[in-house]
Amino acid sequence: MSMNLSVNNREVTNMTFDFPDCGGCKTCELACSFHLIGEFNYKNSAIKIIENKDKSGFSVDFLDKCDFCLNEDEPFCVQYCRESEKLTEFLNKFTRCTKKKEDKLKGGLGDE
Ligand code: SF4
Ligand code: SF4
Repeated sequence: MSMNLSVNNREVTNMTFDFPDCGGCKTCELACSFHLIGEFNYKNSAIKIIENKDKSGFSVDFLDKCDFCLNEDEPFCVQYCRESEKLTEFLNKFTRCTKKKEDKLKGGLGDE
């Protein structure tokens, strides 16, 4: 897990998790874009799948525009992922850290 670091020489400003079991299908990206804008378009996704430079696996990166699918029964990215349990774990960590950051910005103490 990392924040504001370089992953595979790519600057990330959000949260990135190593995800060795991810198959790289990017269904989560399409599902996310459908949730956000009602269209299937990788460019409009709040979740990004990054392949390691040495092709050894993938990382998952959540962007700030992720709204946690609060208005859905289950996050769209998770619904269509074959590794949904692990993806849920990452999403929950991202959600907690984002909330903590927002609380700090508002002058609160956060929830951890
Ligand atoms: S849907 Fe799951 S397995 Fe497929 S790319 Fe996304 S995180 Fe990886
Ligand atoms: S939880 Fe975030 S990344 Fe996942 S589908 Fe919803 S908006 Fe996209």
